[in-house]
Amino acid sequence: MTALNAILDLPLSTVEPRDVYHARTLARIAERAACLEEQGYTLTQTESLAGMETWSVVKPDGTEYAVVLNCPFDGDYCDCLAFSNYGECKHRLAVLFKKHREATN
Ligand SMILES: [Zn+2]
Repeated sequence: MTALNAILDLPLSTVEPRDVYHARTLARIAERAACLEEQGYTLTQTESLAGMETWSVVKPDGTEYAVVLNCPFDGDYCDCLAFSNYGECKHRLAVLFKKHREATN
């Protein structure tokens, strides 16, 4: 599957772009997320409770990010800088992509 096909298949972000620059950033984030595992990142689900999931996303250099899906208070979030700046990040989208790929294979 090419990165482009992966992006087209992805259950994408619900983040509304603030402006054209934000839209461009969101597109880049989605593009990177589509091939994160191919770049050596590991995505591991660490917890699942009442629909809420916690994932550990580890960069090849060992840096770890925590992605939480379906948190009853905050929705989805990631503890990385991109998520706080843009409301989206490649880690969260890569987890969604992985789940989507596993559900459709
Ligand atoms: Zn992140």
